[in-house]
Amino acid sequence: MDKQHGLPSAYVPPDLVEIPPEWMAPGFPSQLLRKEAAEALVVMLRAARAEGHELRVRSAYRSYEEQATTFQYWIDQLGEEEARRVSAPPGHSEHQLGTTVDLTSASVGWQLEQPFGQTPEGQWLAAHAHEYGFPLSYPQGAEEITGYTYEPWHFRYIGRDQAASWAQSGLTLIEFLKEPTD
Ligand SMILES: [Zn+2]
Repeated sequence: MDKQHGLPSAYVPPDLVEIPPEWMAPGFPSQLLRKEAAEALVVMLRAARAEGHELRVRSAYRSYEEQATTFQYWIDQLGEEEARRVSAPPGHSEHQLGTTVDLTSASVGWQLEQPFGQTPEGQWLAAHAHEYGFPLSYPQGAEEITGYTYEPWHFRYIGRDQAASWAQSGLTLIEFLKEPTD
């Protein structure tokens, strides 16, 4: 699902579970992910912590209605053309899949902003998130392909095996998922 392909407004993923509160950014409300993605996320965040990188969740599953509110916020802030570069219209957000998470760290004040990519935590994710099944959806310099500006915080779970194939492919995630599979 991307700029062209959408999800029905009524689509709610099955098996949503709450991300354990200890992994939430301080002051932010609890968030949901699909069970397998939530479990893989905790494995990844524990591994990062063991290597000295404290990462936390800012947002995860977003319903169609919540995405409509989010997108309208960005239109009000930036106008529609710019809003489309940083946010998705309802039905087109990877967050509605329940497999996608925005991560941040104290070094950027728990914000979702591009300097996160230069922090040790952001660099750890760039190097290792795919090993836990989480490709980076919107890499730097790929806006013409993805339609979105660089989001070093936004990771979509596709499973470890698929993510390993993705990493080998050298493609953006959108291109990789469009590839025909056997
Ligand atoms: Zn995101």
